[in-house]
Amino acid sequence: MSSLSCFFCRGKLLRHIKNQSLYWYCCSCRQEVSQTEIDLMDAHKRVSSEV
Ligand SMILES: [Zn+2]
Repeated sequence: MSSLSCFFCRGKLLRHIKNQSLYWYCCSCRQEVSQTEIDLMDAHKRVSSEV
């Protein structure tokens, strides 16, 4: 799996584990995104690009 880009600033996200869940943290804007949110945004992106 390649590294992800931050949704807010396009910075590089760092993967880490918190509460036994996978999280992504952006060093640039200090936003934290859970893997679940990324999956949701991914699914949304896939649906809208199929139009
Ligand atoms: Zn960011």
